Amino acid sequence: MSVLAENQAKAAKYLEQFRQAPVGHFINGKHVLPEGATLYDNVTPTDNSVLGQVVAGTAADMNAACAAAEAAFPAWRDVPGAERKKLLNHFADKIVERAEEIALVESMDCGQPIRFMQAAAIRGAANFRFFADKAPEAQNGQALYQAEHTNYTMRSPIGPVGIITPWNTPFMLSTWKIAPALAAGCTIVHKPAELTPLSAMLLADIARDAGLPDGVWNTVNGFGETVGKRMTEHPAIKAVALVGETATGSHIMRQGADTLKRMHFELGGKNPVIVFDDADFERALDAVVFMIYSLNGQRCTSSSRLLIQSGIQDKFMAALKARVESLRVGHSLDPATEVGPLVHGGHYEKVCSYFDIAKTDGATTLVGGHKREDLGAGNYVAPTLFADANNDMRIAKEEIFGPVLTAISFDSEAEAIQIANDTDYGLAGYIWTENTGRAMRMAKYVEAGMLWVNSENNRNLPSPFGGIKMSGIGRDGGDYSFDFYMETKNVCIAHGTHKITRLGV
Ligand code: NAD
Repeated sequence: MSVLAENQAKAAKYLEQFRQAPVGHFINGKHVLPEGATLYDNVTPTDNSVLGQVVAGTAADMNAACAAAEAAFPAWRDVPGAERKKLLNHFADKIVERAEEIALVESMDCGQPIRFMQAAAIRGAANFRFFADKAPEAQNGQALYQAEHTNYTMRSPIGPVGIITPWNTPFMLSTWKIAPALAAGCTIVHKPAELTPLSAMLLADIARDAGLPDGVWNTVNGFGETVGKRMTEHPAIKAVALVGETATGSHIMRQGADTLKRMHFELGGKNPVIVFDDADFERALDAVVFMIYSLNGQRCTSSSRLLIQSGIQDKFMAALKARVESLRVGHSLDPATEVGPLVHGGHYEKVCSYFDIAKTDGATTLVGGHKREDLGAGNYVAPTLFADANNDMRIAKEEIFGPVLTAISFDSEAEAIQIANDTDYGLAGYIWTENTGRAMRMAKYVEAGMLWVNSENNRNLPSPFGGIKMSGIGRDGGDYSFDFYMETKNVCIAHGTHKITRLGV
């Protein structure tokens, strides 16, 4: 039996639970299947067959989840940090116990290759451990002395919060947002992407099995325009953390205006990787390929624009072409697969629409530019490389969110900065040069929330993660996450010596 067949057999066993009953909600510690609920089909991008059905939640379902999170908040807020640390580390242990199931289910649900999803499950556990260990110190503040007063600050959890996640790496991103909220002492309502609800239900199971008190964790499935909207309007929800498209961020900002929600947005990107003539050629090549073709190019920090300096352009593009031609496209459960099927039919068609757009714009299609229908009924696409592009082209401006790279050449540092910044987005950037001074100048002027020099997307959990411009508002990671999920209170205490201005004497 091939490893693919073995993985398929194991995945079928794990997916059985979602075939037997529709995916519902998890509210106040219980799985809930509302009577008479509207259901929709959840399909796998590997062959577009139906994995099971999902409840399209209603505003009433969301109200119930928000009420549960509100009721559970005071007790969870007051659980000592050390206790929360223990519980959330236990949660991480439970993720590890179910890592195989999570990876296989996730891979079938969203089409991400299993080689990346195995790591994603373990990274999810690491997210929980990192924030678990910080839980005891989350409330700590500062002492700020004046001559006759002492100020001290403390932080307290903001209240129940809403977490809205996308379909590209649903499990990893959910843990990344939810772990700090729980560690801070917030209760949560999670709204997973409608296209990829399965791993969120595994997380809800784990929340129950790990012993989180009822109501601390709630999950409501359904569509953004209904349950997502209701969450962002609900007065019990004090903050909303969204990972999704830029347009969705705008909607949510409007929806949350009346209740003055605190918002944290991680949105789209069109991230440049800038390769100078003096770059370490082989390492730059590896990183350029990895950062757009891994995770099917469905990655917010993917380097979807290659800015290549003219001196090495020919050599680099030839080497890149050979690598892209050799990428292995296939079933997401095949361990050999490097590029899997795109998440769903609509997104697949959107990505493929850029093949014609590139031609109309006048770019050269060096590799790919077509579907891979030979691989069956799934959403398979040939990894694609566009060359001879410029920044006026749509393929250089718009987030394609697939395994599609647009290469643009430049001559000088100044030109590279101008091209890199000629976008509405500002999430990430990558700079390849052996010249430290140049790297530092570029890091100063390239407009992005995160820059990597001579590296691909290395993640350090205490470091700030987030974008500028239309790529987002706010930062995740370490204490930045606690700042979002917590309110800071200042207490000012007089030493009893200062003069108080006397009125009406
Ligand atoms: P999306 O914006 O369509 O959906 C994200 C979530 O928002 C889903 O759960 C959806 O149901 C919900 N939603 C949609 N409309 C809503 C509304 N009006 N009110 C409340 N909720 C609503 O995004 P997607 O297509 O699922 O994911 C891909 C996008 O996510 C890409 O643009 C990608 O760049 C972005 N992304 C960003 C980051 C980052 O860290 N910056 C990370 C991953 C993905």
